Amino acid sequence: MSYDLGRWSGGLAEWTEGDTAFLSVAFTWRLNEAYSRACWHRAAGYKVKAGGPGIFTRKHFLSDVAQIGGDIPDAIVHHNPMATIASRGCPVGCWFCIVPKMEGKSFTLLPDFPVRPVLCDNNLSALPADYQQHIVDRYLGAGVPLLDANSGFEPATFDDEVFARWQPILRGPWRFGFDEATEGENVARAFRILKDVPPRRKQVYTMMVTSRLRCAWTVFINISSGGWPRTELHLRCVCFRGSSGVVVLDSRLTGSDPEPSFAALYSRRALKF
Ligand code: SF4
Repeated sequence: MSYDLGRWSGGLAEWTEGDTAFLSVAFTWRLNEAYSRACWHRAAGYKVKAGGPGIFTRKHFLSDVAQIGGDIPDAIVHHNPMATIASRGCPVGCWFCIVPKMEGKSFTLLPDFPVRPVLCDNNLSALPADYQQHIVDRYLGAGVPLLDANSGFEPATFDDEVFARWQPILRGPWRFGFDEATEGENVARAFRILKDVPPRRKQVYTMMVTSRLRCAWTVFINISSGGWPRTELHLRCVCFRGSSGVVVLDSRLTGSDPEPSFAALYSRRALKF
């Protein structure tokens, strides 16, 4: 059998089982379309069930045309046939993140998860060590390559032990969130552990509102000082500008960039409204 990264649905997945149509909405900007699809399925005689992160904060949006919520096991496979998840929840509790509110601050372990090459757990390094090993063993036992640990690792809990555990199976990038400026030392430590991993396989993601730009500044300081050797950084900056929309700024910087600055960052910007 061949494995690849699959294709994501773009935030709205739908499927039918018997007389029920399911809608899984990952992003709120797909809600209008989800509403239309719910109406279409009802007109075709289906009961409609809807859920997902996009609905969690807008529960009433589809409530007149669909049953909202409830547990739908393995809904993620309808978003990407190569994706799976082995745990839900996250104990960290970042203020901007929907995961703890939706899935809880305690992990729910799904030990019998279907083994697929794109693993979407929220925070692999914070899972109990024996459960991390269980996931690794499932991949090794099934002979399935882990092509992408999609949500990656948390810098605060990433250490030599975690690296040694996942290194035999992870083929994709080592992804980290850099969520608060206070995490700088933990991110730097994670990258020291990864010093022998090629740059293309090390990625840091940070999401910032304007008041949190200091995260980016910390990243830049460390690149230019050589503090994070051979690091390639993928910055996705999301700046909320009043009610006018969202500015999405993607930038790829490497340790060889001369004296990166905010000016350089913004000169490479891609704006989407
Ligand atoms: S560590 Fe990641 S998954 Fe956990 S609360 Fe923070 S952003 Fe969310």
